[in-house]
Amino acid sequence: MTVDLECDDLVIGAGVLGLAVATECAKQGRSTVLLEQHPQFGQETSSRNSEVIHSGIYYPVNSRKTHYCLSGREKLYAYCAEKNIQHVQTGKFVIASNADETAYLEKLHAHAKNLGVLVERVTGAEVQRREPLIRCSEALYFSRTGIVDSHQLMQSLENDLQHLGGLVGYRHSVMGAQRDSQGFTLEVNSPDGTLLARCQRLFNSAGLGAAAFSNALLKTQRYEHRFCRGRYFTLSSRYEGKFHSLVYPVPQKDGLGVHVTVDCAGNARLGPDVDWIEERSYPALQRFYDCDWDAVLPQFLAAVRKYCPSLEQNALSPGLIGIRPKLFIDGEAKPDFLIENFDGYVHLLGIESPGLTSALAIAPHAASLQA
Ligand SMILES: Cc1cc2nc3c(=O)[nH]c(=O)nc-3n(C[C@H](O)[C@H](O)[C@H](O)COP(=O)(O)OP(=O)(O)OC[C@H]3O[C@@H](n4cnc5c(N)ncnc54)[C@H](O)[C@@H]3O)c2cc1C
Repeated sequence: MTVDLECDDLVIGAGVLGLAVATECAKQGRSTVLLEQHPQFGQETSSRNSEVIHSGIYYPVNSRKTHYCLSGREKLYAYCAEKNIQHVQTGKFVIASNADETAYLEKLHAHAKNLGVLVERVTGAEVQRREPLIRCSEALYFSRTGIVDSHQLMQSLENDLQHLGGLVGYRHSVMGAQRDSQGFTLEVNSPDGTLLARCQRLFNSAGLGAAAFSNALLKTQRYEHRFCRGRYFTLSSRYEGKFHSLVYPVPQKDGLGVHVTVDCAGNARLGPDVDWIEERSYPALQRFYDCDWDAVLPQFLAAVRKYCPSLEQNALSPGLIGIRPKLFIDGEAKPDFLIENFDGYVHLLGIESPGLTSALAIAPHAASLQA
């Protein structure tokens, strides 16, 4: 057996998580290789999201989502400032328009205070003063929420990795791996044909494909990612500068509700919605990055007009679609991040929102796990 590539640590997947994990491995002075099937980083979920730096308020106190989101948020702001990555601390309103929603806000307010998250109660009139297009009865305002340019973030992580001597192989698709007493052997499809790679530690941050890869390596069927897509409409330039903060309704089942966000260039977008996909095979997901936009438009208008009644239909145009990896273990929903170490095989599963915010906190933990 001729080995084409040998390293201490090999990371699968150049989304924001894989880039951050590989950088942390390289910081330890270990020879590190990051393999990505696409020609560039961030071609899947890491570039198909709201780019929100979340405040970490929606998840149970002791969950990994809360833990990593709160610490990841602070690390992300600091990293953006240090590396000159475009970001804006916009703040966010979570709004209520009826008694049930107000009751939800009360609970969210108590939960946020319990977590030590900065939160302010605001009247509907005050929301309208600050966001003239929005109507609600009252709201919570989270000043520490913001937005980040996810492309610049990933570019910066890739630069860090390469400065630390790490290698990135694009168009390298990891087909399978086997372990032995010394480490792991991987079969990799590359532009030069099939390669064999060896490593001591193997990190699986393959995003939507991570659960299937783990089942094959661990010879189990325990882990499953079911897929739930989120679609966005963009708002025309007429709405540029019309929203200053992010505006969220109260969360809905499996998602945060169709909200209004802005990107660093000032463009506003609506979404994501929650659309479960029947397809269970990761390689077959490509066709779900498009949809019948005319069919979903009425739902979006109805959802957003509840709190932004003047929204004009002809301002909406189809935007991007991202897919959430919803984790199930032994058939049961596990709505939290999962980072497990099997003697040097580390998998990162269920990394849906707030994964972008959490990446810089998850990565040092993952990279600290030993073989
Ligand atoms: C609609 C939506 C909105 C979201 N909004 C936010 C938000 O506002 N804020 C926030 O914090 N989070 C948000 N998230 C979550 C966030 O985008 C993700 O948690 C994060 O991007 C996941 O990064 P990742 O690196 O784990 O996965 P990915 O970005 O999917 O990267 C995985 C990579 O692995 C590669 N890969 C897979 N299999 C292989 C293989 N066998 N060989 C080689 N390469 C492989 C893929 O090509 C891919 O590039 C959102 C997610 C969605 C879907």
